[in-house]
Amino acid sequence: MQEIEKILIVEDNKALSKLIAKKIGAQINFEVDIAHSFGEAQNLLSQNKDYFVALLDLNLPDAPNGEIVKYVTSKKIPSIVLTGNIDAKVREEIMSQDVIDYVFKGNMDDVNYIFGLIERLSKNRQYKVMVVDDSIVTRNEVKKILQEQMFQVFAAAHGEEALSYLSEHKDIRLILTDYHMPVIDGFELSKKVREIYSKTDLSIIAMTAVSEELISSRFLKIGANDFINKPFTKEELVCRVNNSIETLEYIEAISDMANTDFLTGVSNRRYFFKFVENFLQEVDPHKNPFAIAMLDIDDFKKINDTYGHDVGDIVIKKLAQILKENTKGSDLIARFGGEEFCLFLKDVSKEQAVEFFVKLRAKIAQSILDIDTKKIHFTVSIGVAFSDEESFEEMLNQADMALYGAKKNGKNRVEIAE
Ligand code: GH3
Ligand code: MG
Ligand code: MG
Repeated sequence: MQEIEKILIVEDNKALSKLIAKKIGAQINFEVDIAHSFGEAQNLLSQNKDYFVALLDLNLPDAPNGEIVKYVTSKKIPSIVLTGNIDAKVREEIMSQDVIDYVFKGNMDDVNYIFGLIERLSKNRQYKVMVVDDSIVTRNEVKKILQEQMFQVFAAAHGEEALSYLSEHKDIRLILTDYHMPVIDGFELSKKVREIYSKTDLSIIAMTAVSEELISSRFLKIGANDFINKPFTKEELVCRVNNSIETLEYIEAISDMANTDFLTGVSNRRYFFKFVENFLQEVDPHKNPFAIAMLDIDDFKKINDTYGHDVGDIVIKKLAQILKENTKGSDLIARFGGEEFCLFLKDVSKEQAVEFFVKLRAKIAQSILDIDTKKIHFTVSIGVAFSDEESFEEMLNQADMALYGAKKNGKNRVEIAE
């Protein structure tokens, strides 16, 4: 099991530190250590150096002038500053140190911002992002800011290098690009990226000089998601980057929902056909034979009538769970509707597929569903078809006919398309 990560809070206001700790426990999955002084923080840090982030109060009884920030960041612990003072000079002083962000603690809304921020940082770790700029100063500056935000960062000096990184790391999700660069400039790079990636797969943010207004709009027209004017503040960059990533996440969540069956969490019919279409575009069925099967619960109407519709739903979910447990990640399970499922098995011979479905039928028949004091059994009929058919439609038709045959021949059995 993965160990729960820890967050360090250094704050002398006991009520506030307790409140933040409580909210962290309730809203995000982290453990919390609290220190009420510089001394206590030193003590904790001598025992544990693996904090995910530290929340640091600038004004502590034994360190009244922000000394804690230098101390904790020198231990390479990502830090967020808590401050009661928000004037420009203090802000500048804080942000010039290696801190991720600062939070004004005089206001509960601002304190709530911390939890979103920590969650954002935690998720950012899974994303690859790239900065492309021929200026080594800008490149390194942006790289450092992105690393502070916990992204996996690539830095390229021009468009060509960027494309080479991208071909090696196809899962880069965000590119920040300069305009003027030798060999391939920012426009060319964006155009080339857009030939492969849509705006919802990979986000592009153009970094342009304020004097080049037209450049920004041209960037947007060729498919950049956003732009930022140089010179920019670290905060603006961070906000734009995180906004872009959040947009990608929203779109992903919506698309997951549109592709998923609500009751069981497996794919829906819509996604099944999209998946097959993509699959057939990439694969020659003669070289990579595949099988599909239609599955239907036997006498499901009787289950509903005997135990009620809610129990019927639980039976459908149980079947989906058995299917998940018995298939590989490369297979696809889809609920076509009601109590009917379709399975797609990649790279299987006829013999392997038949063996698989024969075993699967038996497993389902042996499973027992405990609901209250009732023990419910259910069975399925399965119709299997292979990729040696003329077309996928024909294959599906054959699987349907085989399923019909299985029902006619007594149910709880597997029939293979002729
Ligand atoms: P057979 O063995 O021939 O498949 O008979 P059956 O009773 O399973 O098939 P039939 O198609 O006659 O009945 C299916 C029933 O499933 C009818 C419908 O009310 C019910 N049903 C459809 N969708 C759902 C659902 O999401 N939840 C529940 N609980 N029942 C559903
Ligand atoms: Mg340049
Ligand atoms: Mg049925």
